[in-house]
Amino acid sequence: MIEMAMLKEDLVTANRILSHHNVVDSFGHVSVRNPENPAHYFLSRARAPNCVELGDITEFDYQGNVIGHEPGKPYSERFIHGSVYEARPEVMAVVHNHSPNVVPFTVQTKKKMRPIMHMCAPIGNDIPTWDIADKFGTTNLLVTSVDMGRDLACCLGHQRVALMRGHGSVVTGKSLREVVFLSIYMELNAEMLIKAYQLGEGDVTFLSDGEVNANAAGRAGFTLERGWENWCKETERPYFPQTWNMGPGFSKSDA
Ligand code: MN
Repeated sequence: MIEMAMLKEDLVTANRILSHHNVVDSFGHVSVRNPENPAHYFLSRARAPNCVELGDITEFDYQGNVIGHEPGKPYSERFIHGSVYEARPEVMAVVHNHSPNVVPFTVQTKKKMRPIMHMCAPIGNDIPTWDIADKFGTTNLLVTSVDMGRDLACCLGHQRVALMRGHGSVVTGKSLREVVFLSIYMELNAEMLIKAYQLGEGDVTFLSDGEVNANAAGRAGFTLERGWENWCKETERPYFPQTWNMGPGFSKSDA
């Protein structure tokens, strides 16, 4: 199968996996940059991720304009994706979600979301929270313009993840496999962290900056491939193996 066809199949698969793991429900979305034209990206038409099919995949530019065939109404929040791709050339895939255990941390000002388990380390120790009201006042909280998308991307900075107050989050990755992995493990980290806080007295020990960095460097290649293969099976989607040897500095085994 040619690379572009495989990429679009993997984008459908990413939708199904994120739905299966409750990162998205009827809402939320995942996109991938067009490797043949980096100023464009692919995203489904406005449809629940578990229902997304190959024919729903639409190409957009940074400003959210449809390029070519338009199979249906686009997501009103597609500006999140275009603005992140515009600001971050190395980002190849983006997820926007209302991940249920993550949302409480978007409104909690004292207890921050930080990784407590090694698989969740790549979300990073310094996760910013974007508040749409800071610049745009009273809104319905949806990111429905290029201006809003760019303000969110500015808050994200060089982090992998940004929380969105009273809404959800945006997650970035260098591939669909990475962004799906990060989104699933951020939701799990949030669930486990809430439980750790609920245990009562005593402080929560987070991963140190050194531990986060050591894990983030290794969280690639084989580990992402192992997760992706399993999640393809769970969702009964075709699995297209990819090379997992990403060169020096990356894990060649299960980290
Ligand atoms: Mn949303």
